[in-house]
Amino acid sequence: MTTTGNEGRLFSAGPSPQDRFTPAVRAVLAEIDAGTERLSRASGLRCPPNCGACCLSPEVTASVLECLPLADHLLASGRAQDFLARFEADPTHRPCFLYEADPLDPERGRCGEYEHRPSLCRLFGFSARRRKDGSAELIACIRHKSAIPEAVQQAQVAASREEGVAFAGDSALALAGIDPALARPLLPINEAVAKAIERLALRHSLSSPRPGSASE
Ligand code: SF4
Repeated sequence: MTTTGNEGRLFSAGPSPQDRFTPAVRAVLAEIDAGTERLSRASGLRCPPNCGACCLSPEVTASVLECLPLADHLLASGRAQDFLARFEADPTHRPCFLYEADPLDPERGRCGEYEHRPSLCRLFGFSARRRKDGSAELIACIRHKSAIPEAVQQAQVAASREEGVAFAGDSALALAGIDPALARPLLPINEAVAKAIERLALRHSLSSPRPGSASE
């Protein structure tokens, strides 16, 4: 990110710099949660305790749009600047900077921003997609398949009935309906979060009175 000499004001903890799209994104994420919870209840599908294997994947992607609630929270809690500093310092940008790994076993850990995580982190393993023939299939997690195969089977049955199940394609369409330009492309997660922070920080600085301006 290009520095402006005004970073203290840009990134100081304080009132949330709400982006106009953030409430709509939160509503889509809540809808996803409702669907994945229904599938979980219908099938008994649960992640193995403390499994963080999917968070280590370099394939975790998100759009800037769906990272706005997360960026909003990082800005409001005063941690956005640290995130950007790490993003600039670590050229690999991997794995997700929000993942809090067990120091003794990196595959065990937790999401440090579970409540604000983007759509893929909510959908993977607990949602459905369409096959070419139009039927629904579970987007299954390989860890679930080996640890709890019966629950995966039940989840596949529940997904094929389509009753209140979250479809990844529907969520992508709902996000694109909020703002098609920001809903694409899908970027590596850390890049998407960094860009969302920059967007909100910029909007915040543009809407705040400048020191010494007539309005202060
Ligand atoms: S946002 Fe949270 S759930 Fe998603 S990859 Fe990062 S640590 Fe994992």
